[in-house]
Amino acid sequence: MKAAVFDEFRGRIDIRSVDDPVPPAGGVVIKVEANGVCRSDWHGWMGHDRSIPLPHVPGHEMAGTIVAIDPAVVQFAEGDRVTVPFVLGCGICLQCRAGNQHVCDNQYQPGFSGWGAFAEYVALPYADVNLVSLPDSMEFSTAAGLGCRFATAFRAVVDQGEVSEGSQVAVWGCGGVGLSAIMIASALGATVVAVDIDDEALAMAGACGADFVVNAGDDHGQSDPVKVVRELSAGGVDVSIDALGSTGTAVSSIRSLRTRGRHIQVGLMIGDDAKPVIPMWRLHANEIELYGSHGMQAWRYPAMLEMVADGRLAPNTLVTSTVNLSDGIDHLTNMASFPGTGFVVVDSFDA
Ligand SMILES: [Zn+2]
Ligand SMILES: [Zn+2]
Repeated sequence: MKAAVFDEFRGRIDIRSVDDPVPPAGGVVIKVEANGVCRSDWHGWMGHDRSIPLPHVPGHEMAGTIVAIDPAVVQFAEGDRVTVPFVLGCGICLQCRAGNQHVCDNQYQPGFSGWGAFAEYVALPYADVNLVSLPDSMEFSTAAGLGCRFATAFRAVVDQGEVSEGSQVAVWGCGGVGLSAIMIASALGATVVAVDIDDEALAMAGACGADFVVNAGDDHGQSDPVKVVRELSAGGVDVSIDALGSTGTAVSSIRSLRTRGRHIQVGLMIGDDAKPVIPMWRLHANEIELYGSHGMQAWRYPAMLEMVADGRLAPNTLVTSTVNLSDGIDHLTNMASFPGTGFVVVDSFDA
């Protein structure tokens, strides 16, 4: 098969011919029909996670068709159209047995733990626990983004944030996961304030349902976007999401909460941001709650797919471009300087 391979962190990513994968025990091989390009791929390629085995094939936001299957898999068959969460739970550890497969003790992340979906085929273990059947009406390019950014946003807003009709929500950072969170919170009837430093991203935030947009860039004359968010929400939001992952956005998110509000950390905190100084006195004085959100279990997908099916959520509108494998590699390696808006999805793998 053709696959995008790198031999060293920050090194060239080449399209090479490599051996076709075979299904692991309890697993399947999927013919990749679409794979989203995500900032987490960029982190992996940069070497921010040194546990990634080299040489490596990135890619964790996939949808495709099962083409080979281990006999131990009982709930799926060759030809099934499927996607997976970016975290595959083992199904037997304490977390998995409690229904929290997305934080499994023995988790497997395609594109991190092993070779991912910047390739024509990808092998996936633990199939029965983690595969999700796609509705016939859903395009592969739409489904590809669900497993990482959209599902993570769904869990953050619905399960961790408990956002409902009338909630006031702030979203810091309007990349893929931020836009997804805005769309989901808005669909649930929340009033949403979106914050970013890019006008194009904020325009998309408005299109996704944000009621207010705040440009926090230095040149927009807003010395303190926290103050603006607190004013717009008459004293602070109920739920605030750091969808970027930086000390600045995390602290701003916490400061924008009302008393007993809930901060949800969705953006990856790595490098200089791995150990941010958090205003802990606010947690104590105002009983602020801090939550993390790390993907979503396969068994929670039906709730999300139902909202897609009835039109309340339109993740397809977040796919801003579909590209071939080689353009996908360019997008991955240039992501720090040209993040773009929405989801870029690779949907052709022969070049
Ligand atoms: Zn991702
Ligand atoms: Zn497990």
